[in-house]
Amino acid sequence: MRDKLQLRCTTCKEENYIYKKNKSIHPEKLKINKYCWKCNTKTAHEEKKK
Ligand SMILES: [Zn+2]
Repeated sequence: MRDKLQLRCTTCKEENYIYKKNKSIHPEKLKINKYCWKCNTKTAHEEKKK
């Protein structure tokens, strides 16, 4: 089973990416550096639970 999560920029709080992950394999909170269009740079993105 896979859950759809939104990856949110921790700087501007914009939801930039949709991410699918298997919670039974990766129960930990995801945090990755991704490009943010709003900030116009790479920022830390955190998953947001729906
Ligand atoms: Zn941003």
